[in-house]
Parts: sequence; C-alpha cells; structure tokens
Amino acid sequence: MLNILQKNNLTRRISAIQLLCLSWLVIFFSGQLQADNVISKTGTKKPAFELVVLGDTGGIQDGNLSAFLLRDINEQHYISLDAGTLVNGINIAQQHNAFADLTVIQDPQWSTTGNILRQHIKGYLISHGHLDHVAGLLISSPEDSAKPIYALPSVNQTLIDTYFNWKAWANFTNKGLPPRLNQYQLVDLVPKQSQTITDTSLKVTAFSLSHPLESTAFVIEKDQDLFVYLGDTGPDQVEKQGKLKALWQYLAQQLQHKHLRGLVIEVSFTNQRPDNLLFGHLTPKWLIQELTQFHTLIDDKSKIKDLQVIISHIKYTMKNGPDPREQIKQQLNQGNLLGFKFVLATQGQRLHL
Ligand SMILES: [Zn+2]
Ligand SMILES: [Zn+2]
Repeated sequence: MLNILQKNNLTRRISAIQLLCLSWLVIFFSGQLQADNVISKTGTKKPAFELVVLGDTGGIQDGNLSAFLLRDINEQHYISLDAGTLVNGINIAQQHNAFADLTVIQDPQWSTTGNILRQHIKGYLISHGHLDHVAGLLISSPEDSAKPIYALPSVNQTLIDTYFNWKAWANFTNKGLPPRLNQYQLVDLVPKQSQTITDTSLKVTAFSLSHPLESTAFVIEKDQDLFVYLGDTGPDQVEKQGKLKALWQYLAQQLQHKHLRGLVIEVSFTNQRPDNLLFGHLTPKWLIQELTQFHTLIDDKSKIKDLQVIISHIKYTMKNGPDPREQIKQQLNQGNLLGFKFVLATQGQRLHL
C-alpha cells in the first residue's frame, strides 16, 4: 500500500517536472518567435542599420528640413546624412522614442538633446550646399562638439565660401577665412573612392549628382551591407549627364556579393510639375523611371525584393489645395508596377533596415 502511494507521488512529481519543462519550452520558443518578428522587417535577415528621420521636407517648413541619422545597428554612433534640421529633429525623435535602443552618454553639463548631438553624432555627410540641407548644422554649431564634415570638394568649398565666412556665420571649420575655429574638419571625398568614417565602422563612397549646384549620393557600407542616401537630384533624361546611371551601375555590380538594405531618395514635386520647372528634382514618375533603370541592371532581382525605398524632400506648401504628400503617395502607388516598397519619411520616425 505504502509502495503504491510512493509510486503515485513519484509519478505526480515527474508529471510536474514534465509540465514545467514543457511550459518553459513554450515560453522559450514563443520568445524566439517574438524576437524574430521584431527583427524581420527586412525579410528574414536581421537589420544592419538604424535610420532616424530628423527632417523629411525639402523646404518651406523650418524645423523639418532634410536630415537623417544612420548607425550600424551594433554601434552607439550615428552619422548625419545632410543636416537641414538637427536640434528640433532630435527633440521630435525623442518624443517618438526613436532613441529607445541607444544608451545615451549622460554628461550632466548637457541635456539629452545636447548629449545626442555632441556625443552620438560622429560626423556630417553633406550632399550639397543648399540651405535646406545645412541650416541645422550652421545654427547648432555654437554648442556642437568637434567632428568631421565629409563632402565632395565643391560642396566643402561652398560651405566655406557661403556660410563659414565670418559674414553669414563664424568660421567653425579648419579651412577658409581665418581665424579658423577648427571645430569641423572638412574632409574632401574623392568620387567613387571609399573613405572610412572616423569613430564608426562605416565607410562611404560618394557619387556626383545633377542639380543646379553639384549634389551627392552617399553609398554607406558596413561589411556586406549597403545603405544609399541621395541628395537632391534631377532625372538623367532631363539632366543629360548620366550621373544616376553611373550610380545604378555601381550598385548593380556591388549587389552581386552585397546586400542593399535601404535607399533614401527625393521626390520633390507631384507628376503635375512640368520637366522645365523641375530645377534638378524628381517626381513620382521620374523616380519610378530611374528605379526601373536600376532594376533592369540587376541580374538577381530577388536581391532588391525587400529593399525599402524611403522618400524624402517632399516640398511642403502653404498654398491651399490638395496635399502634395498625399498626391505623391497615390502617384507612387499607381505607377509602382515592379512592386517597390515605398516608405514616406516622417520626422521623428525610426526604421530598422
Ligand atoms: Zn533641397
Ligand atoms: Zn538642393
């Protein structure tokens, strides 16, 4: 009798242990599934980059002009791709929890915004000298920390001639009119030549773009992963310089052994804008035409199946009438025969790519 009781007790204990194991396994695997869901926004791959939108418009609305922070997802240091809006963009991004995964260095002398700008932005990549791409950099410079500015030689020249000249602004750089405050070290990029970005694991290769003054596309590289940021650009068929084609050819070749995680490109105007009034900008029609050119150059089309095409630089307007952002969204969707994944950049938004 005692024996049977003991046996029953033992069986019960074993079942309890089995149940515990089983529930632990269920928790473990559901946790794994959840983790996989979080990181699988770009298909089955883990994200390689984090992008924070500091400014999404291409003009008119001060406080929301072209600027994007990009970092290697495993690092705590960003680069700023253009710098139309910095401080207001960082403030709005904080309100949207865009820095949730960043361990912000807390220097008690500075606010969180100050610490993000000073400690976590390790350099600026400036596409061209138009004010809507540099206003934030100029305005925040009195409280910024020392760091490099990477740009094509003509763009760096515009910065020192036009802004850092002791007339428009004090010369915070290490070149141009003395006295030089040496806060920003101007680094001239050689087109199509890779350059390491100090204090990050990233490299950049610059390509010239057609615009009323020289603009730039930056191909950012981290091991086998690529991210591309294009400053303002007109379409090749209007500009007649073949500059976008050169970029698409380079990327198509890189894609034979690398992954393209994301692309930021401008659409300034709706399709209603006539070609003679583009002033070096794209419309939905022209963007899709350019992306189609790129698509035809790629051998293995599955390589860009999950590519997110992030739309920047939509011109804000104060005129009454249809919202250009809504119109551009519709026109992109209507013309999207190849199934590109368009994302309209929104200030304060964070993307894992
Ligand atoms: Zn612009
Ligand atoms: Zn411009």
